[in-house]
Amino acid sequence: MMGDGGKKRRGGSHCDGMGQRLSCGGEQGQGLLTAVQQGHLQIATALLDSHPSLLHQTSLYHRHSPLHIAAANARIQILSSLLHRSLPPDLLNRHNQTPLMLAAMHGNIACVQKLLQAGANVLMFDTIYGRTCLHYAAYHGHSSCLQAILSAAQSSPVAASWGFARFVNIRDGKGATPLHLAARRRRSECLHILLDSGALVSASTATYGSPGSTPLHLAAQGGSLDCIRELLAWGADRLQRDASGRIPYMLALKHKHGACASLLDPTSAEPLVWPSPLKFISELNPEAKALLEQALMDANRQREKNILKGSAHSLPSPSHSNEVVEDVSEVSESELCCICFEQVCSIEVQNCGHQMCAQCTLALCCHNKPNPATACLTPPVCPFCRSTITRLVVVKTECHDETDQDGVDINCSKLSKSSRKLRNLNDSGSSSFKGLASVSSLGKLGGRSSGRIAAEWVDKQ
Ligand SMILES: [Zn+2]
Ligand SMILES: [Zn+2]
Repeated sequence: MMGDGGKKRRGGSHCDGMGQRLSCGGEQGQGLLTAVQQGHLQIATALLDSHPSLLHQTSLYHRHSPLHIAAANARIQILSSLLHRSLPPDLLNRHNQTPLMLAAMHGNIACVQKLLQAGANVLMFDTIYGRTCLHYAAYHGHSSCLQAILSAAQSSPVAASWGFARFVNIRDGKGATPLHLAARRRRSECLHILLDSGALVSASTATYGSPGSTPLHLAAQGGSLDCIRELLAWGADRLQRDASGRIPYMLALKHKHGACASLLDPTSAEPLVWPSPLKFISELNPEAKALLEQALMDANRQREKNILKGSAHSLPSPSHSNEVVEDVSEVSESELCCICFEQVCSIEVQNCGHQMCAQCTLALCCHNKPNPATACLTPPVCPFCRSTITRLVVVKTECHDETDQDGVDINCSKLSKSSRKLRNLNDSGSSSFKGLASVSSLGKLGGRSSGRIAAEWVDKQ
């Protein structure tokens, strides 16, 4: 097919679907690679059973093994059976690409997982750009593959020999880390996972993009607001210059990404950033972390609106409709955050048990400008008892689910009414209810000695 025009080539060549001809292994060799590419497990099995040497058949130009072709075409059953026939997972094609790289490139998560289970090496470099499978996943924006590779790297010998942090920040032939590629290609989901895994937000490339580009330069060039927002929240510096002395703002202007330029304009308001991301966030449980991240992004979106209001650019609205707007009127007084009296308590400090809203937690833990010298050294303290915050967890209540406000509000007010009634009835009974009732106007303080702490809080006001 494809341009062969019926002309017979030696051994009978064939296109394998990735634009190359298959090498001369006779009719059977051709048949095997075609069967693999098209997902005919039975034919492939029959051919391999009768001619076991076909296992080492490769395509003519790119020298793809059957494993490469199965990985690129998401043929998970055939891939499994090839591995089962003890075909090593790290076969190389002409460009030193492994089957894992091709699976990550095409987003074939099942194949990625299978190859990783079979012990595929995540630390192989191709000879085209000097890239690893992690680069491939980030560049092509396959976040599930990216996550699978990172998880594997954490438990594989790579972590021991190279160190996980070094792997996350691994550079290609032009000095680009996976984070640089994700930023350039507008892959905000991959960008988030990489930052969360310890990718360095301010690393500069050697020659990729403009020499000396940071991920923020590349996101400015790519024009992705989501990537820019994420990078800024992780402390990317708007004033860092590339090798030609340009700040990201200038690149956004040059490529006519107006809204991005407004956010990158060093004279516009600083976004909120995580204080010492790698340290502090690792101490959060995943739920609390997700809640705080959401609050941080919401706060920054609010700032963006104000920034963009002053400029000629407006944000596309659909992606910003998921803001958390708590309907405070429906919530009982006792659930309100007693720092701002506006939001519902959603975060609990451990071990003291004090509660506040996500926004106030952020205000407490975030700085407008990261100060690497101090931020890492002073963990935030509880505003109620001044004890060092070692853990933040999500408050356990059945009544506020931000994703489905309409459905739960009825339950919520019902629940709080009945619990208030219960509290009044039990006034002389349970001591914990008594304590709460005495400070009910201050909100729910929880914890062991809520009465005393509430008094202190009032004194400090
Ligand atoms: Zn609050
Ligand atoms: Zn406390």
